Amino acid sequence: MASPLQPVRGTRDLIGEDFRSHHHVVETARRVSALYGFEEWSTPIFEDTRVFSRGLGDTSDVVSKEMYTFTDRGGDSITLRPEGTAGLCRALVSNGLAQANLPRRVFCAGPMFRYERPQKGRQRQFHQIGIELIGVPEPLGDVEVIACGWAILKALGLGDKITLEINTLGDGESRAAYRAALVSYFSAHASKLSADSQMRLERNPLRILDSKDEGDRALIAGAPSFDAHLTPSAREFFARVTGGLEAMGLAYQVNQRLVRGLDYYCHTAFEFTTTALGAQGTVMAGGRYDGLVEQMGGPPTPGVGWAAGVERLAMLLAVEPEAPRPVALVPLGEKAETAALAIADRLRAAGLRVELGYRGNLKRRLENANKRGARAAVILGEDELARGMAALKDLDSGEQADVPLAELEARLKRDR
Ligand code: ATP
Ligand code: MG
Repeated sequence: MASPLQPVRGTRDLIGEDFRSHHHVVETARRVSALYGFEEWSTPIFEDTRVFSRGLGDTSDVVSKEMYTFTDRGGDSITLRPEGTAGLCRALVSNGLAQANLPRRVFCAGPMFRYERPQKGRQRQFHQIGIELIGVPEPLGDVEVIACGWAILKALGLGDKITLEINTLGDGESRAAYRAALVSYFSAHASKLSADSQMRLERNPLRILDSKDEGDRALIAGAPSFDAHLTPSAREFFARVTGGLEAMGLAYQVNQRLVRGLDYYCHTAFEFTTTALGAQGTVMAGGRYDGLVEQMGGPPTPGVGWAAGVERLAMLLAVEPEAPRPVALVPLGEKAETAALAIADRLRAAGLRVELGYRGNLKRRLENANKRGARAAVILGEDELARGMAALKDLDSGEQADVPLAELEARLKRDR
């Protein structure tokens, strides 16, 4: 035998209850975001590399260290998407939607790829759900996007495990002033910064605040805060966002150190975090990205949105979604087996989940049905069939009764 092949490091198969939890998270997000008016889009899993290098910025960790980039057979540079927002904005522009019918509310779900060190809650192929509200410059948009995220977390039963942290990255003017303050502070401590952060100091000092390095964290604790450098209009914008959250009864904590790892953010940045997952505590993260559509070659268009890690949310679910319980069809003898095929299809057409048992005697087949979690068995003996009857056995109570074939659908639906 050939040696068994393994999944690639940092990837996981989703089977059985893992798949069901995953699916439950995505379906809940799909359902709740639809109530907020979001429509689902699906964009390609790979894009022209420039979608991400322009969209996320060359100095971001994702672009500089984590992308799966390759040259395809035609010589084009292709990247497996590391996140969803850049591709959605690219789609908006390439489909000529950037000026028509704004605002757009878009929901998206699917796999993302980042070359990271795999650990609990951190994979190389992982999945995100996300929403984007495009074309709304007002702070009310930020509030609605956050509220929709919160509604999804609540619908997943995670309301009391999650905290909302929020910050503002201000407008361009505020960021330039803050950047200068950070450069002067960190330059005085440059030798103590990690190698990565020394590079960030030159290229994108705000990013240092996002560093996970222990030594950096100690320095970050003493860094100047953004607050003092906000322009009055940026301050007013943020006040309207927090005011909106308060009006909705949404509790939040201002975290002045919160920045997003991606270049295109301005004004509001937020994260929903939990202490239940160890180091990988951020389950949902987002903010405002007013410059991104322009980066994709479209007109200046404001945007605000978030993305959440499906694996991290699935790990937090208190109860695993139950496996569906089929009805087992147990034909006895060759004639009954043939008849069973048509009966099974009739029941399926009525919306029932039906599995056929193929092997062994009645006892074996019933054992099998129990193992598969079946809720009922329909036993088709040849004598009963000749009389237009079947034996219906409730596999929880063990009760059994003869039922006319024509009444099977109704009985099975009633007993569900
Ligand atoms: P982190 O700080 O954990 O690396 P990030 O800032 O890189 O997160 P975002 O780009 O904001 O993450 O992605 C949004 C969400 O996607 C994260 O909050 C997290 O829930 C999830 N996520 C990001 N990277 C991974 C990964 N490698 N594996 C699993 N989930 C991930
Ligand atoms: Mg990351």
